This record gives sequence, C-alpha cells and structure tokens, in this order.
Amino acid sequence: MAIAIYPGSFDPITNGHIDVLDRASKIFERVIVVVLANTSKNCLFSMEDRLEMIEEAVKSYPNVAIDSYRGLTAHYAEQHGANLLIRGLRAVSDFDAELRIALTNKKLNPSLETIFLMTSPEYLFLSSSTVKEIASMGGCTGGMVPVAIEERLRIKYQREE
Ligand code: ADP
Repeated sequence: MAIAIYPGSFDPITNGHIDVLDRASKIFERVIVVVLANTSKNCLFSMEDRLEMIEEAVKSYPNVAIDSYRGLTAHYAEQHGANLLIRGLRAVSDFDAELRIALTNKKLNPSLETIFLMTSPEYLFLSSSTVKEIASMGGCTGGMVPVAIEERLRIKYQREE
C-alpha cells in the first residue's frame, strides 16, 4: 500500500495545507499528517491544539490520518512503513530549503521518496506565519484558514494582548 506522510509544524493548518492534503488524498491510498514537535520554530499553538484543528479540517477524508512525532521525519517514515513524503512548494524561495530537506531525508532513509505538490495559485502567498501576523494585528484571516481556526486565532491574540 502506498503510504505517504505529510510532515510539518501546521501552526496552524491553513487552506494551503488543506489543498495539498485534498489533492494528496486522491493520489495516495493513505496519507498521514505528521505534526512535528521538534522544529526550531516557536509555535503559537500547543501540539494538542494543532492536532485538534487538523482533526476538524480533515474529518471528511477517510484515508487521511493524523499523528504527532518528536524526532526525525526519516525515522518516523521507517517506523510506519511509509516510503513517500509529501511537501508543498510555493514560490521558488521554498525550493532551496526543500531540496536540502529532501536530500537529507534521502540520506537518512534511502527508501524515502519526497514528492512535491505545487501550490494552487490562490495559496501561493499563504503561510502559517502570514496568517499569524495578520491575526496578531487584528486583521481578517477569512479564506486563509477554516472558520473555526479564524476564531481560535482571534481568541489567542485577544488573550495575549
Ligand atoms: P514546516 O514547519 O516544516 O515548514 P509547515 O507547517 O509550514 O511546515 O508546512 C508544511 C508543508 O506544507 C511544507 O511543505 C510547506 O511548503 C507546505 N505549504 C505550506 N503552505 C502552503 C501553501 N500555501 N501551498 C502549498 N504548500 C504549502
């Protein structure tokens, strides 16, 4: 069975991530969204919150599962019998870092193949950091994240003011 993992920090999951997932779910038999706990990023949302938001966003996809992991993506793939890794590509600026990550993962786990899905044009400039920046200044994140996440962002920044 073709099991693909889609790793990232998803802080929070955006409509750009969901679009990649939606397309991946039609290509691969099983997709596991892996929320990584050990990125150098300082996350706004706790692991629990991030998992909850993804759960809500992908509940209609029967072949999409969610997991969390503290460790190397290459090791997670090995442990779960996944040999495909999905990453989304936006502008050229993503390419450099993504190529480095893909080659490193390949070195750590030679059977792991990274597959890039191009962003849909409407999400070209959408990222979790952009969404957080807009929300932190009271801007509207409509169309960028699911409605429930818009609300969570609003509450988060209200509390922190
Ligand atoms: P990381 O913390 O590893 O960069 P992210 O949670 O930011 O992970 O993103 C996970 C994956 O989703 C990455 O491959 C990223 O390039 C991709 N991605 C993020 N936003 C978009 C988007 N708007 N369109 C397509 N892919 C995206």
